[in-house]
Amino acid sequence: MKQLLALSDDDLTAFLKSIGEKPYRAGQIYEWVFKKNARDFAAMANLPSPLKERLARHFRIASLNVCEPEVSGDGTVRVNLSAPDGVVFPAVILDAARPTGARKIPSSSACLSSQAGCPVGCAFCASGGELKRNLTRGEIVESFLAARDFVKSRGDDAAKISGVLFMGQGEPLLNYENVTGAISDISAEGKIALAQRHITLSTVGIVTGIRRLAADGFKVRLAVSLHAADDDLRKKLIPRASSKVSTVLEAALAYAKSSKTRLTFECVMIKGVTDTPRRLEELALAILRFISGHAPVVVNLIPFNENPRAGAEASYFRASDDKTLYLARGYLVSRGIFTIIRRNKGRDISSACGQLGV
Ligand code: SF4
Repeated sequence: MKQLLALSDDDLTAFLKSIGEKPYRAGQIYEWVFKKNARDFAAMANLPSPLKERLARHFRIASLNVCEPEVSGDGTVRVNLSAPDGVVFPAVILDAARPTGARKIPSSSACLSSQAGCPVGCAFCASGGELKRNLTRGEIVESFLAARDFVKSRGDDAAKISGVLFMGQGEPLLNYENVTGAISDISAEGKIALAQRHITLSTVGIVTGIRRLAADGFKVRLAVSLHAADDDLRKKLIPRASSKVSTVLEAALAYAKSSKTRLTFECVMIKGVTDTPRRLEELALAILRFISGHAPVVVNLIPFNENPRAGAEASYFRASDDKTLYLARGYLVSRGIFTIIRRNKGRDISSACGQLGV
């Protein structure tokens, strides 16, 4: 039986035509699934019974088993999802109450996986491990729906997912078709309708993928995991980073210009490795040379999360202390680069950056 959510709009329309149904039925089906949360074709009251039976014979709407959520002391929630073939991958819900005017609207962000495991093997990361397989478009969308179900289950009508981060397990641009298909579903008006500017895709700098995103007209925000501006050090931290830093920055800038979006550069702060004055100066010079003045940019300093499941090299890594973090931010700001220190959320449930192994 096929996954309904793994189909593109064209695939579903072609199926409907092949059984003599009108294309507008696709819109009705999507409305039930995405707006009315139907998980069973029988609930789709405005579809004729023979069509509902036929759909139920060919497709299943939900294919993932949602494991018991783990809740962090800071409100971060981790949900593991298991597929029928035994593959398990995480989604994380970053839970925040943001002030909007005088009211507080409970809004959360969903951090989604793109692959089960990850082939990139960053030296500091326990999220990846061996690649098991790419997630399908439907599995990625279903993980978003699981996150949305969780926030709705808190019984607050205003609760919603207002942002999506592709920062879970996997390198999104190594699963281009399925990730961009899921982005299309999440952002489509007739489906989830979350604007692409609220979706951030994090990549180690897969240049072909970045160029494709630009050519395909996507408007998501790009976050490039730079970590270091020196090619040799970067190669040690990201063994599968095959492009030079200059090439990655040029591709990122071209994307930012074509999509009119802000660029984020992420830098994991490892004591004595990426947080030294020399490394920060290299970082500043690279950003000033390639990006600043051409596109809005923010540098995200991410405190390294020590994790026994990370690679052997990571056992020698230590997190930068707070004073060094603030000095690093101060230095980059003094060079005219907007810089923030990312808050570490979900550490107690192994759900912070680099901790998403299962
Ligand atoms: S940081 Fe991202 S790209 Fe690198 S190994 Fe971990 S999951 Fe893969």
